Amino acid sequence: MEIIEIVRDIQDFSESLRLRGKRIAFVPTMGYLHDGHLKLMEEGKKRSDCLVTSIYVNPTQFGPGEDLDKYPRDFERDERLSKDAGVDVIFYPPNSQMYPENYQTYVNVENITNNLCGLTRPVHFRGVATVCAKLFNIVKPHVTIFGRKDFQQLVVIKRMVTDLNMDIEVVGMPTVREPDGLAMSSRNAYLKEDERESALSLSRSLKRAADLYNHGQRDAGIIIKEVKDVIEKHPGTRIDYIKICDVETMKDAGRLDERSVLALAVWVGTPRLIDNYVFGENK
Ligand code: AMP
Repeated sequence: MEIIEIVRDIQDFSESLRLRGKRIAFVPTMGYLHDGHLKLMEEGKKRSDCLVTSIYVNPTQFGPGEDLDKYPRDFERDERLSKDAGVDVIFYPPNSQMYPENYQTYVNVENITNNLCGLTRPVHFRGVATVCAKLFNIVKPHVTIFGRKDFQQLVVIKRMVTDLNMDIEVVGMPTVREPDGLAMSSRNAYLKEDERESALSLSRSLKRAADLYNHGQRDAGIIIKEVKDVIEKHPGTRIDYIKICDVETMKDAGRLDERSVLALAVWVGTPRLIDNYVFGENK
């Protein structure tokens, strides 16, 4: 496994693979890897001759006062896990490679970023779209794998790839959970012992919503109220949003169909955790 820090070096590396007819899969991450990331890598491995991952905590997707400085990092551990997962190259750039002096170009995906996480994190998706566009130009993958845990992010990346005619297949993978239902996240590392129990409120509330849906409930307002009740029963939780939206437009839905997603963001002590459920999927 190679570790490459310089943009030009990985561009040359990818170009030579492409000239030899090899297929490149790419899994972008912010590191502090867990089984959710490893599943994406496993999928990338199946779909390519060369698996590239990036480990980069992208400053432009964090707003002022968010957890950029505290974001968990452990490159040695990530290196070990990546190697075991069969990663061929880790792209591990310093900020000076990604945002050199005089940097001033950003990618702004419009309507679909005006809801959910876009409401409370106004610069977030601009940062995500920008860094992913840059990483795609740097790594030149044929296929890129994202997790559906970050549902809106996946929709944004698919929109950007379509709108900007990027010749890349975008694959979305199911959310990987702990045995008790908690969606895996690098930010779970922030949870104190008592908060860990309250963090289960997210997956429990999704289960409640799925049960209601499976019993015929189609009124978004009623489901949202039930979800809110489940979350608020857990101490130390503070709801950012609970929304039911169309899976593609990200517009709020009044009544549910099989194109509806329930998305949540909840602070549990320090970390803000997200989770989602697409109605009609197994739960
Ligand atoms: P992050 O390092 O948090 O930026 O995530 C990198 C990629 O891993 C993104 O595509 C995420 O959606 C995906 N991911 C994070 N957590 C999970 C999870 N629990 N299950 C599946 N994919 C995940």
